Amino acid sequence: MYGIVLLGAPGAGKGTQAVLLSKRLNIPHISSGDLFRENLRNQTPLGELARQYMERGELVPDEVTIAMVRERLSRPDCANGFILDGFPRTIAQADALEVLLKELGKSITLVPWIRVRERMLMERLSHRWTCRDCGAVFSYESLPPREGCKKEVCTGELYRREDDNPEVQAKRIQVYNEQTAPLIDYYRARGLLVEINGEHTIEYVHRLLLQLVLNAHTIHSPASSAV
Ligand code: AMP
Repeated sequence: MYGIVLLGAPGAGKGTQAVLLSKRLNIPHISSGDLFRENLRNQTPLGELARQYMERGELVPDEVTIAMVRERLSRPDCANGFILDGFPRTIAQADALEVLLKELGKSITLVPWIRVRERMLMERLSHRWTCRDCGAVFSYESLPPREGCKKEVCTGELYRREDDNPEVQAKRIQVYNEQTAPLIDYYRARGLLVEINGEHTIEYVHRLLLQLVLNAHTIHSPASSAV
């Protein structure tokens, strides 16, 4: 079982790395931000509630977010593991996740913290384009194809996320520093944290991350602990 929680500020590359890791390990990528955006698109009551917080760069209340992630983690495709991206974002969410995973007979095996300096985060968020159909992110390294998305068979339209505008960007980074950064010590104290320099290329960070995840998996797997 892989239980991966990706930590890092907005723009650190969690989503990009989660997509690559998810394909490589064949386990689902669960992004709380994507789940909220899906609800927004489908105009569900949850999406309407989340909208006001997302537009301001603030966090959606914990109870709502926890309930949404609980439902997602309970689905059968999480049987062999999961990659959480953007959740937990507060200590209360992390505590709730611990309880929830225990209930589901799952656990966290590694918390990679993707570290990027603030100036570079702002730079990246200002150059980020997202595909409306498949959610692929085109960034500083892969400039947006003018004709639209080019991921596999997708041809979706590319757009700039509204919460990537400069004022909301600054607010999101402030919220990260105040409410999410304390999770670094939270998971370090539990012996789960590994730090990765996220300023390398996408491919290099992916290789580092994969190696760390596979090493942690070997250490935690029942076969190795029985030796
Ligand atoms: P993201 O795509 O992870 O940058 O998230 C976009 C927005 O969705 C955030 O700025 C929050 O408003 C909301 N959001 C995503 N994940 C969470 C979470 N774990 N807790 C509260 N709000 C969240």
